[in-house]
Amino acid sequence: MALATPIIACAYGEIALKGRNRKVFLRKLINNMQVALKGEPVASIKHVESRLLVHLADPDRAAGVTLKLRDVFGLQWISPVAVVPRAEVDPELREDQESGREPRLARICAAAAVLAAENRTGAASFKVETRRSDRAFGLNSPEISRLVGAAVFQAIGLPGKMSQPDLTVNVLVLKDNVLVFTDKEPAWGGLPFGSSGRTMVLLSGGIDSPVAAWLMMRRGSRPDFVHFYSGRNIQEADVDKIKELVRILARYSAVPLRLFLVPVVPYEMRSIGVIPDRYDMVMFRRFMVKTASRLARRNSCLGLVTGDSLGQVASQTLHNLGAISSDVELPILRPLIGMDKMEITAWSKKIGAFTTSIQPYRDCCSIRSPKPELTDRARDLLLFSSKMELDEAVREAADAAEKVEIVLD
Ligand code: ATP
Ligand code: MG
Repeated sequence: MALATPIIACAYGEIALKGRNRKVFLRKLINNMQVALKGEPVASIKHVESRLLVHLADPDRAAGVTLKLRDVFGLQWISPVAVVPRAEVDPELREDQESGREPRLARICAAAAVLAAENRTGAASFKVETRRSDRAFGLNSPEISRLVGAAVFQAIGLPGKMSQPDLTVNVLVLKDNVLVFTDKEPAWGGLPFGSSGRTMVLLSGGIDSPVAAWLMMRRGSRPDFVHFYSGRNIQEADVDKIKELVRILARYSAVPLRLFLVPVVPYEMRSIGVIPDRYDMVMFRRFMVKTASRLARRNSCLGLVTGDSLGQVASQTLHNLGAISSDVELPILRPLIGMDKMEITAWSKKIGAFTTSIQPYRDCCSIRSPKPELTDRARDLLLFSSKMELDEAVREAADAAEKVEIVLD
């Protein structure tokens, strides 16, 4: 699709609600856009009246650039646009209104007609939708839509349709410019990557934890990942799938991501014969969160992230969640806690992780005792913790962690 214009407009969502620190978020967002567009012919990215305008040196890259910007958190929607300066609109409008003529809006109508003609493929109806963020403009939104609609009709000959048209031509009247565009590509919203501090994500090979990581990344956090593997060494554990999941998440990241691979052997050696089967699941999880917490501190992470969903499995009852986190000081963020499996699966598909998540993998949790206690008491757990020297196991495991850096190819 050849576009009439090498400018792409991006709207940001929640950042607009920020007060005095909006500038900081915007700077981060623009930086992340630059990172995402590395290698693309970007001439400049300018902040113009609550939109970010990406000027391209090569209009043929507009579609590819739009696609890349979709995954930059903080953006609400993206669209190639025609930018018409108000200086080329207002004098003509004043002249028309003073002489009692029907306003022409020649530049806006021309841009709309070209864009509509370029994007009409397959459409049987259209409408023009106008928004004025500058109320001082000489015409109101319905008037503008009517005039531009007439021009579009002349250009493409399709009937207008107010509800669910196939093609929408948008006109956005700003203070200094008028933006004209057709399809808005929805983006993910959220906050710019890296604007909310660092987290340590407990990543298993399943469906849930990659979604949890993604949701926290969308809130602006920068994740490190920790995965616990069973077996004597990483080769035996065959962690390619885990690396692949991190690689998928790296698409949404502005920096290379780090994965810590941690053996569970230090736990197993101390727990065998000491921890009764029914306590093993919760004790093992205490081992995981405590080790993750230790690695988090070493790497300046201020919180842990897990894929727990309330009541999904025995380890995720409110009782056990409490028992598992009882002596972890860092906040444990559980973004999936109120979601059901259908919703989580839908997210997994949307973010591109699902097909990898369902590949077979022998997670160390799946080989634990199948009949865990549902109401473990924190006091019992502390007793068992000291009996098996859990802190020793945690220290040993954290020291044995191997760091892998995952760069997007
Ligand atoms: P997932 O789909 O993320 O595997 P799950 O419900 O299948 O979730 P559970 O075994 O219930 O996994 O574990 C709950 C959470 O504990 C996971 O979402 C993850 O955050 C963490 N976790 C489980 N196993 C591991 C592991 N081997 N390494 C790191 N974190 C883990
Ligand atoms: Mg789960």
